[in-house]
Amino acid sequence: MRDFAARRLDKVRESATIAVADRAKQLRAEGVDVVDLSGGDPQFDTPAHIVTEAINAIRRGDTHYAPSRGIPALLKAVQRKLADDNGVEYGLDEIIVTPGGKHAIYSTLVATVEAGDQVILLSPAWVSYEPSVRLAGGEPVYAPLQADEFRITSEVLRSVDAPRAKVLIFNTPNNPTGRVATREEIEAVAEFAEERDLLVISDELYEKLLYDGREHISLASLPGMRDRTVTVNGVSKSYAMTGWRLGYLAAPRALTSQILKVHQHSVTTAATFTQAAAVAALEGPQGVVAEMLAEYDRNRALVVKALNSLPGVNCPTPEGAFYAFPKVDSADSLEYAQCLLDGAGVALTPGVAFGPTGEGRVRISFATSPALLENAFERMAALLRSEPAGRPA
Ligand code: PLP
Repeated sequence: MRDFAARRLDKVRESATIAVADRAKQLRAEGVDVVDLSGGDPQFDTPAHIVTEAINAIRRGDTHYAPSRGIPALLKAVQRKLADDNGVEYGLDEIIVTPGGKHAIYSTLVATVEAGDQVILLSPAWVSYEPSVRLAGGEPVYAPLQADEFRITSEVLRSVDAPRAKVLIFNTPNNPTGRVATREEIEAVAEFAEERDLLVISDELYEKLLYDGREHISLASLPGMRDRTVTVNGVSKSYAMTGWRLGYLAAPRALTSQILKVHQHSVTTAATFTQAAAVAALEGPQGVVAEMLAEYDRNRALVVKALNSLPGVNCPTPEGAFYAFPKVDSADSLEYAQCLLDGAGVALTPGVAFGPTGEGRVRISFATSPALLENAFERMAALLRSEPAGRPA
């Protein structure tokens, strides 16, 4: 029988974060006590007022197809949010509500990338960018950021050999590095996009998770950038709503009318009552976000201190999101992560999953309880301080 799989999937790897989580689940099923710090899922349940709104929506019969682009109340809430928080004005027909930020990125790529078009990714980059580009028929090209600080500069951007580049994906606050791009860096991205005539997908999922008074700047708010930016955001991370699958994108009308075709013919619409919940998230009390952020901030201090006390580990302080991305004493992060999983029962994500400059690092999610984090670091310390034979290479 012939191989029915499409050839464009040959280079698409399974998500490394999911692979580690699956292995951790398998070990658990075998009775091994595993602490899983590999995912990107807040430990908190969704705030009660948001849950109530979803239940009310179901009870009042909001269980039918929603308008494809999104329910009017949510489109208005997103429009207000983008104007108030991000300083960018969009018409209601320039917004599309999607089942998660991930699908907003995917639909945009499908709607813009043609076979052979190149898409520039700043490495380290979130694990799903590269496969999404490939699924859309494009060719991902990494711009490797300098490994110490992962600073974005015009020099790094201009050094990328991508003559057929059409799109660049930009992410701040960043997963996995925890960096928050400065105005200077964002200006470098904007200037480069104009120079090369690129569309930029600006992934702002972690926008609300900023530490030490840092500021989030939306790329689309820079002069001239609104016309060449697709802003992607959602409620997963800020409001602890990962399982609700609710995100959105905003872009100029000429583009959203095309992206809408992909959206309509693939998912039809985001779930109706989930959209009602998202209205409650965006329009309701924002203290819930601050409360969760305060807990992440406490975890951040704990994680940075604990990691830097481990042999061979050097952890910069994350500026945003909820990931630490320390350097480790190994040139093979996958082997290191596997060794920690098998030897200490701690699941982390190998840095190599995030592209070439992620190698030599691991990603640790601190969106979990302090008790679990402490438990994980005790186990890691025991393994890393043991005889060299027991340590990751
Ligand atoms: N972008 C980044 C950088 C992420 O880390 C994630 C989730 O982990 C997403 C987008 C997608 O989030 P969701 O599809 O849950 O909205």
